[in-house]
Amino acid sequence: MKLHKTRESLLDTLSSYRQNKTIGFVPTMGALHRGHLALISQSVSENDITVVSIFVNPTQFNNQADLEKYPRTLENDLQLLKTLKGNLVIFAPTAEVVYDQKVLSKSYDFGGLENEMEGKHRPGHFDGVGTVLNIFFRLIRPNRAYFGEKDFQQLQIVKKLVEIEMLNVDVIGCPIVREANGLALSSRNQRLSQEEREEAALLYQTLVQIRENFANSSLTELNAMASEAFTNNDFLSLEYFEIANATTLKTAEEKNHNVPYRAFLAVFAGDVRLIDNMQVSP
Ligand code: AMP
Repeated sequence: MKLHKTRESLLDTLSSYRQNKTIGFVPTMGALHRGHLALISQSVSENDITVVSIFVNPTQFNNQADLEKYPRTLENDLQLLKTLKGNLVIFAPTAEVVYDQKVLSKSYDFGGLENEMEGKHRPGHFDGVGTVLNIFFRLIRPNRAYFGEKDFQQLQIVKKLVEIEMLNVDVIGCPIVREANGLALSSRNQRLSQEEREEAALLYQTLVQIRENFANSSLTELNAMASEAFTNNDFLSLEYFEIANATTLKTAEEKNHNVPYRAFLAVFAGDVRLIDNMQVSP
């Protein structure tokens, strides 16, 4: 396992793989957990070499305090990665290396995907995600890139980014890895108290409740069910809940038989923002 901090040293290592070997890429912001490791293991099993980036990307944070408090645990991350089997290359650059002086986002039109849910609540977030991934994809030129369904909207946007930027990479979505109580693993969970971590199972429980009631309830009833689940909760406050078309990500206005629907939510536990989602139909 090799750690690279500059573009030059990364490219030097990758150059010997370009000819007839495949490169997998797993972009992360570090504070690694089993969710990240699942993506990395899938990449290792499908490619000759896997590049894992660890970079807390400033341009995708719309909230300065969130950026500052985001956990940074590079030494631990490297120890954890060392325990994995497989041919791994770690890229942990600074913002200066990634952005070369101009820490700015491009402005993207992702066909409307960027205006829903996370896009509404985190202005500029997906421009930042698109910008940094475009830089990484052009540098690394991976054959495959792996993204978690935990950030389902991001996964759809990355697929669109690849089309817009005409990048030659297969974008592969991977299932959400959860704690035993259902809480989706997230680097931000490190900032939860024990009590908040236990309470936060409510995100998963609510999604399951919506999935179980989807067929026999109206959208109005389902939305009420989700918002009631968080009413008067001392630890959690609901920022949004939406049932959306899983392809367009537009809010469902009616239930159609052949349309795949997914439920999405964002919840605050103190100042820690948690998101989750689940397919609810078919
Ligand atoms: P992050 O470090 O939070 O930017 O996440 C890096 C990648 O790991 C993204 O593609 C996430 O969707 C994915 N990821 C994060 N948490 C999970 C999880 N619990 N299960 C599956 N994938 C995840």
